[in-house]
Amino acid sequence: MSCDVVVVGAGIIGCASADELSRRGHRVVLLDGRTIGAGATQASAGILAPYIEGHDLTPLLELAARSLAMYDTFVARARAESGAALDYQRTGTLEIALDLSQSARLREQERRIRESRIGCRWLSRAEVRDLEPAVSADIEGGFLVEPHGFVSALDLSLALVKAATSRGMVLATGAPVRVITQNGNALRVDTDTGSFVAPTVVFAAGSWSGQIALDGVAPIPVRPIRGQLLALARLTGSIGRVIWGPDCYLVPRAEGRVLVGATAEDVGFDERVTVTGVRDLLESACDLVPELWQASFEGARVGLRPATPDEMPIIGRSDKLPGLVYATGHFRNGVLLAPLTAALVGDLVEGNLSDAALRHTRPQRFGEL
Ligand SMILES: Cc1cc2nc3c(=O)[nH]c(=O)nc-3n(C[C@H](O)[C@H](O)[C@H](O)COP(=O)(O)OP(=O)(O)OC[C@H]3O[C@@H](n4cnc5c(N)ncnc54)[C@H](O)[C@@H]3O)c2cc1C
Repeated sequence: MSCDVVVVGAGIIGCASADELSRRGHRVVLLDGRTIGAGATQASAGILAPYIEGHDLTPLLELAARSLAMYDTFVARARAESGAALDYQRTGTLEIALDLSQSARLREQERRIRESRIGCRWLSRAEVRDLEPAVSADIEGGFLVEPHGFVSALDLSLALVKAATSRGMVLATGAPVRVITQNGNALRVDTDTGSFVAPTVVFAAGSWSGQIALDGVAPIPVRPIRGQLLALARLTGSIGRVIWGPDCYLVPRAEGRVLVGATAEDVGFDERVTVTGVRDLLESACDLVPELWQASFEGARVGLRPATPDEMPIIGRSDKLPGLVYATGHFRNGVLLAPLTAALVGDLVEGNLSDAALRHTRPQRFGEL
């Protein structure tokens, strides 16, 4: 089968890229070895928080802040084009300091962020408890960042695919891509059940990106970092915004759940939920919001975050395999970075390399790729 662009991987990055490309008029095929969002995306907490996750990594902070600014439009379009309701809220995040050293670090962070005119403020213990009465009394204070929010990453991925298929995009799931080779002026993508030929391939296979053979190109240095996340059934209105503690975070979801995340474990391609992971997250969550000891346990999810050696994503064209566009290695911020990544991928496919963000995301920083 031939088309304009094959996108490999239907996580949030592949889905957002496929949606963007189909909106720009390209004939797109989206492939996944499992199903939509089955990788890291289904496990994600969906928090949109550059000023927590980005803390000291300046280029990442720049990218993340740009992407957050695109989110209202991104979600509004996905809602309108798919008809999906989508749980997307910009309630802000409240980062809790449990001791004096954490409070000093957060107050310094507040000072730096305030200089960029981001809506944020330091709250005393009493102010935290006024805003979030369920938070433990045993704290020093909290750092509120108002523009932050969260989104349901799996539902968003499904909505993006629905929007793109309504424009003619073809989705093929359940057949892993094994090898991508040069085929005249085009690229050929071989799966277990068939082949696809296109001038451009977008490579968005997350943690598994190093496992797909690329004609004469070294494997991309992306490795899996396991994250476990719990779903608890909410008690009477326990929290109203994302609460971030030193060892876990809590996300209030619209359907009456609290998500508790997340572990970060370097254990290879092991997608198991573990007793230690569940215990550690429950203890940290209940230290922050003690009434969660009374919540019901709904389940646990696990996903493999695609990490690169410098923790920055890899977005750019291959020098070695013309036609290949990398969009992988988004590590802890793939959901947050999805709108910006999709826009960059759209530009790269159309030969526009002028965006300054691409300087920070070049694949070639890891060698001849
Ligand atoms: C517990 C947890 C919490 C997180 N919380 C947040 C958060 O709050 N905010 C945030 O922004 N990010 C968060 N992340 C990170 C975020 O989930 C990832 O950065 C993002 O999902 C990566 O998306 P992706 O599309 O690159 O990869 P994935 O979602 O892993 O998708 C890759 C896809 O490629 C497919 N694939 C693999 N091999 C092949 C093959 N050979 N052929 C075809 N298809 C293949 C897989 O099946 C998969 O569907 C979290 C991650 C975890 C695990």
